[in-house]
Amino acid sequence: MTIIETQTGHNYYFDHIQKQWLLLNPTFLYFIKTKIENQIFPTNEKHQKRISQLMKYYNNKYNFLSSHNYFDNLDKSNLFKLELTANDINYNLANTPQVVFEVTENCNLSCKYCGYGELYQKGINRSNRNLSFENAKALIDYLSGLWNSNYYHSYNRGIEIGFYGGEPLINMNFIKQVVDLCSHISLNDDYFKFNITTNGILLDKHIEFLVNNNFTIKISLDGDFINNGYRITKNGENSFDKVFQNIKYIQKKFSDFFNTNVHFNSVLHNKNSAKEIHTFFSTNFQKLPAVLPLNNSGILESKKDEFWEMYRNYNQSVSESGDSTIDIDFFTSSPKILDLSLFVHSEIGYNYTNYINLLKDQSFLREIPTGTCLPFGKKIYLRANGEILPCERIDHIFSLGRVEKGRVHLDFNLVAKKYNAYYKKLRSQCISCYIHSSCKQCLFYIPNINIKNPICRSYKNIQAYKNYLDEMVNEIEKDKKTYVRIKKEIFNN
Ligand code: SF4
Ligand code: SF4
Repeated sequence: MTIIETQTGHNYYFDHIQKQWLLLNPTFLYFIKTKIENQIFPTNEKHQKRISQLMKYYNNKYNFLSSHNYFDNLDKSNLFKLELTANDINYNLANTPQVVFEVTENCNLSCKYCGYGELYQKGINRSNRNLSFENAKALIDYLSGLWNSNYYHSYNRGIEIGFYGGEPLINMNFIKQVVDLCSHISLNDDYFKFNITTNGILLDKHIEFLVNNNFTIKISLDGDFINNGYRITKNGENSFDKVFQNIKYIQKKFSDFFNTNVHFNSVLHNKNSAKEIHTFFSTNFQKLPAVLPLNNSGILESKKDEFWEMYRNYNQSVSESGDSTIDIDFFTSSPKILDLSLFVHSEIGYNYTNYINLLKDQSFLREIPTGTCLPFGKKIYLRANGEILPCERIDHIFSLGRVEKGRVHLDFNLVAKKYNAYYKKLRSQCISCYIHSSCKQCLFYIPNINIKNPICRSYKNIQAYKNYLDEMVNEIEKDKKTYVRIKKEIFNN
């Protein structure tokens, strides 16, 4: 049970089980504090008189709420009891919104902070393999069976086919073959859409094909020449001039496509800043990129000092700029806004993104520990070496199956068993953790998850959780427009 007093002097009772906030008038606040927290706080005579008059009313109110599981009356031993089954995996896979191919491990740049580069463990033993079309075709054929089966419930949402690398445009032949294959697959209730993440070096050569097939393109660029100093060629030269020239070419020649289909990613580090990124993109392209932090997991011990030297914190960078409007402009890529959105989504009751969620039993959401997506709930990722993973961001040791010589090896029972084993290890921590319903901790990022008793470093006890609520509610009270924008732009409310 948590009582929050905001900087504007409002008191809320927040019930973290019901996800409801009650604005407390002074009398009910007093009542709850004395009843629940055994606190007595000084009050004047006039106040006491009023309390005794209203005591009966609030006692009834308290008893009513208490009988409906408020005030921590829920039996927590029943939380997180769900076990995934092969059928769940089958359902998730049939409805996976995205199939992502690691087109190649090869790249025409050697960016200093690349997740597969010299700073990270993932970079060790990486070769220059290309994904074979035979294996990609096998996976698409396999999934086509599911997309046209009774398991498919997503209707006309668009199935994303993503091309990722290395640098995917190096293996353009593969991309053309996959697009061609998809054009010959008939889906009962859906269609394909394509996206690619590229460093932009080869865009001038291949843009017509991407435009003709209505690709969504994400280009990685960190700002101007100096800002882009870590994105270098194999010879150590800054890649900025070539990429900038290519983007300008697309902007000029395919302006409508550029406006709707081209997006940017910028990594924040010590050669750029939130302000510089903002200025560069708004001036040159009238767009803003998604600003991404350097990934701080999986860094080689010997490279840690170098990494932290490069690292720059987004909030700090915004505050150093002295221009808070930057954060509002970046909006969906601002970590602060993302935190607030998660809070609005998870910690404020009566927040439904669609009618189905309104009718769904929300208690289901408490049945899976951690903040990990369900296997294939977000995507399926096929590596160049044939390994199948639930996404491109996690280590290959968590592979869930393989495609080999044109055959898919994916055992739904085994996948369910793997996830259930992880859930079991974390269940007792998650039960007592107060952030569990807005947890964003992916289990694959918990250090030593494969040992018997892994420790989750994001665990929040009551005090840590109260601090978190304090911070979020004060942010919202301080800037109500941001709350309205989150509801509108992120949740379509
Ligand atoms: S990082 Fe974890 S939670 Fe996020 S998509 Fe990948 S598997 Fe899912
Ligand atoms: S933060 Fe950690 S302990 Fe808490 S719910 Fe998430 S995974 Fe579980």
